[in-house]
Amino acid sequence: MNNLDNLKTIDFHIHIGLKEHWHEWVHTYQKSAHSEYYKRYEEMIDPKRFVSYLKSHQIEKAVILPEISPIVTGVVPNEYVFEFCHGNDILLPFCTINPSLASQPAQEFKKYIKMGAKGIKLYPSYNHFYPNDSEIYPLYALAKENQLPVLIHTGSSVFKGSKIKYADPIYLDDVAADFPELSLIMAHSGRGLWYEKAFFLSRLHSNLYLEISGLPPKNLLNYFPDMEKYIDKFVYGSDWPGIRTISSNIEIIKNLPLAEDSIRKILYGNAARILGL
Ligand SMILES: [Zn+2]
Repeated sequence: MNNLDNLKTIDFHIHIGLKEHWHEWVHTYQKSAHSEYYKRYEEMIDPKRFVSYLKSHQIEKAVILPEISPIVTGVVPNEYVFEFCHGNDILLPFCTINPSLASQPAQEFKKYIKMGAKGIKLYPSYNHFYPNDSEIYPLYALAKENQLPVLIHTGSSVFKGSKIKYADPIYLDDVAADFPELSLIMAHSGRGLWYEKAFFLSRLHSNLYLEISGLPPKNLLNYFPDMEKYIDKFVYGSDWPGIRTISSNIEIIKNLPLAEDSIRKILYGNAARILGL
């Protein structure tokens, strides 16, 4: 038996949503790419049953994400996520703001903080904005004030209508520099074009992290050969339901040629620190 067999995981990247929240092409993609999940759809959108699914895979905490991307994937309202997470302390609701649709982004964010948001997710390539736009800065200021992490999509996406130029990690250089006490987490670590850039930036800024959802874990050491040296910057996420089972990547990560302590940091310790658990 390996010492990591009983290691609990914090999953920093989980999507939920009713069938009617997603556009047809999202369903088409899910049906072909993730048929096992799709067959169990009803079970997975029942909070109690989903929580027992997570527990059976040793997930101790899970960041649950809304999404307001009507031109790309659909709309999973913030309110739905809060309701889904209510009464289940294993689930950590994040909120989202789409800056081009929100009339008063900061006011909205304040409302979600009061409702119990544990962080905010931004979708620049789905919502078509640059993350260093001054119009977004009040959101960063609020997140900092309330010690909440900001998860930001970086790199590619399979969904039509997304524009990758907005997902270039370089724009986070400004944000990380202007808000040195704010935890910024790059979802997908600049997937595709920018692994090296994302990794470089994370070394430059102590408050900028790499979240590895959506990357084949067996390739992590190819993308980031120096991963072990900077292991404090890596955070695990599944991007559920964009994965075979909730723990299929966890098993692969546990078997990477990394020190046991490093694997504990990726799967648990780093996220616990960022989330203030
Ligand atoms: Zn995602």
